[in-house]
Amino acid sequence: MAISIHPLVDQGVKPGNSGFSGGTLTCKCASAPVTVSLGANVAFDHVCGCTKCWKPEGALFSLVAVVPRDKLSVTANAQKLKIVDESAPIQRYRCTGCGVHMYGRIENKNHPFYGFDFVHPELFKEQGWAAPEFAAFVSSIIEAGFPPSRMGEVRSRLKELKLEPYDCLAPPLMDAIATHAAKAKGVVAA
Ligand SMILES: [Zn+2]
Ligand SMILES: [Zn+2]
Repeated sequence: MAISIHPLVDQGVKPGNSGFSGGTLTCKCASAPVTVSLGANVAFDHVCGCTKCWKPEGALFSLVAVVPRDKLSVTANAQKLKIVDESAPIQRYRCTGCGVHMYGRIENKNHPFYGFDFVHPELFKEQGWAAPEFAAFVSSIIEAGFPPSRMGEVRSRLKELKLEPYDCLAPPLMDAIATHAAKAKGVVAA
């Protein structure tokens, strides 16, 4: 049996619709759910193996993407949201009713990804959001208890799904982080 990565990619990655321009994320609460409205499609959609992202019960990876922070607004039951860890670089807003993370926000203006919020596109009511493109922080699933001896199976499965496995982020994002640092140091023109 193939390793289960995440329920939304295990059957193959569904292509996105290039005309998708946003929608509504809803938490899992049966009553008074938190809703978050996105006024744009997501970008850099990927599966993530880190131990900080929210993932559904039993999933090995989370599904996570970014959206410009000015395109995100909480539209219902904001009072149920609580920051998981105020000291983390990404402040993840978790629903206190169901545990789902509705968005993650960076408040440090010097952070390379300042201006982007992190969201879980599987919470969209609508279909057609940008498809996941790669797998990030793959080795980190070991930190959540996954047997190191089975990492080969995980990486093969990710490649089969065309989700190239990386142990940090994908090269364009690593380049963006390094460019940000280089500009701050003045070794690359701003
Ligand atoms: Zn909830
Ligand atoms: Zn993550």
